[in-house]
Amino acid sequence: MCLIQTLSRQPRVNGQHDAIISEGLFYRVQDVLDSKARTYRPKVKTIENFPLRGFFLCPQCGQKLTGSKCKGRNKYYYYYHCHKDCKWRVNSEIANKIFKDHLNKFKPLPEVKKLYAAVLLEGYREHGVVASEKKKSLEQIAVYEKKLSVARNLLVTEKSILKITIL
Ligand SMILES: [Zn+2]
Repeated sequence: MCLIQTLSRQPRVNGQHDAIISEGLFYRVQDVLDSKARTYRPKVKTIENFPLRGFFLCPQCGQKLTGSKCKGRNKYYYYYHCHKDCKWRVNSEIANKIFKDHLNKFKPLPEVKKLYAAVLLEGYREHGVVASEKKKSLEQIAVYEKKLSVARNLLVTEKSILKITIL
C-alpha cells in the first residue's frame, strides 16, 4: 500500500503537528486517487496568431494568458496577455518563435524515431475512433430528438381532438 493511501485512511485531525504537505495538495492527490481530478485542457479553438493560447502562464501572476490583437497605425499587432489587472503581455510572434525554437531542441534519437512515430500514429488513430463514436452518438441523439418532437406533436394533436370532442 502506498504512503498516500495509508495517509488517506487515517482519521484527520488538524493542528497537532506541522503539515508535511499543504491541505490543498493533499486534496488534489485525493482527487487523483479517486479519479475525480479535472483534466487540464487548454482551449482548442484558436486562431493562427495564437496557437499557444491557454498554454502560456503569466510570469508575474501565474494566470493563463489569452490573446488579442491591437490596431496600430498601419497594421494589427498580436499579443498574448494577462487579465486586466495584471497587464503583462508579450508579442505573439516573438513568443511563438521562442517556443518553436525551444521545441526544435527536442529531437528523438534516430534509434527510437520509428517507435516514436508509431506511438504518435496509434494515439492519433485512437483519437479518431473516439471522435467517430462521439459523432455516432450525436447522430443517434438527433434521431431520438426528432422522434420525441413527432411524439409531442401527436400528443398535442390528440389533446386538441379530445378537447374538441368533449366540447
Ligand atoms: Zn499576470
